Amino acid sequence: MKTLSSLGMEQHFISDLQKHLETPQKIVIFPHKNPDGDALGSALAWMHFLIKNNHETVVISPNDYPNFLNWLPGQETVLKFTKDTKAVRQKIKTASLIFTLDFNVLSRVGDLEPLVRLSKATKIMIDHHETPGNYAELMYSDPKMSSTCEMVYNLIYELNKKAFTSDIANCLYTGIMTDTGSFRYTATTPNTHKAIAHLIEEGASITNIHQQVYDSASFSRLKLLGITLSNMKQIKNFPIVYMTLSQDELNACDYKKGDTEGFVNYGLSLEGIIFSCIMIENEQEGILKMSFRSQGEFSVNDFARTYFNGGGHHNAAGGMSTDSINDTVSRFENAIKEVASQF
Ligand code: 5GP
Ligand code: MN
Repeated sequence: MKTLSSLGMEQHFISDLQKHLETPQKIVIFPHKNPDGDALGSALAWMHFLIKNNHETVVISPNDYPNFLNWLPGQETVLKFTKDTKAVRQKIKTASLIFTLDFNVLSRVGDLEPLVRLSKATKIMIDHHETPGNYAELMYSDPKMSSTCEMVYNLIYELNKKAFTSDIANCLYTGIMTDTGSFRYTATTPNTHKAIAHLIEEGASITNIHQQVYDSASFSRLKLLGITLSNMKQIKNFPIVYMTLSQDELNACDYKKGDTEGFVNYGLSLEGIIFSCIMIENEQEGILKMSFRSQGEFSVNDFARTYFNGGGHHNAAGGMSTDSINDTVSRFENAIKEVASQF
């Protein structure tokens, strides 16, 4: 039997949420910038549920999302701030409820941050990252959860077990699958698999989902992977590798958003390697976007927070640098020296 506490929800959360949803609301749901499968999947599933319950609901993404997600049921209704700026401003202005999904600090909505902060709507956070910020009136925050999609599954289950549809099932399955590395990361629990079993019963089309997400690469993405792997270096005497991708290398492979998704994980597929990092140049934003993955004890969340202005989870985190690739590599190597005792 599931109990509310085993779902990481405070007792009052469901009843407070029910009160907010008693009468029809104007609702905006935000995934984080550069939404991944979990952010977009949870936002869309929650949208489908709310629309069925007579709430006017829209998902607003801070920017575009990768092609491997552009088949998710309902994605065609998503407003993008970078494209639909006027409509987005209007929706935020008139919203009575705002849900923020798969992030817990407002800076993760990028340029939308001031608009969300100033909105008078009640803000509700649903998220599984550590150290939540305090912008939301109501929070369902649980870093032990595999994914925000598993949390949205729990919510719908508590509110109305009969409300699952195949659209909801496909969205939630996708996010749980992508955030657990296809059910292999340590946050994957028996409850995760029970949710997945139920979602399959409700119409999640597993072969289609796996194909759409994992077998939809372009030729140029694989070329880029080849370059990334040949750029991989191990830090001498440490079980650590890093990879770099310059803007020129990205351009040469006709880079599209999402093409580098998952590259950092290849580092961990090497025997004995427990920490992998990728640094990807983004000339337009004037930064290097960094991704960190670890296996076991070493916290890349702490590492990203301390050295690269980022954060995330214990074994998967991100950050950024405004230095050149060479300087960032040096900073990375120096940071490793500082945490050397942990290896
Ligand atoms: P990824 O490397 O796939 O971009 O992100 C891995 C994890 O770290 C995700 O859970 C993501 O939400 C989080 N993350 C990525 N970049 C940042 C960042 O710049 N700041 C924070 N706080 N978290 C991040
Ligand atoms: Mn997530």
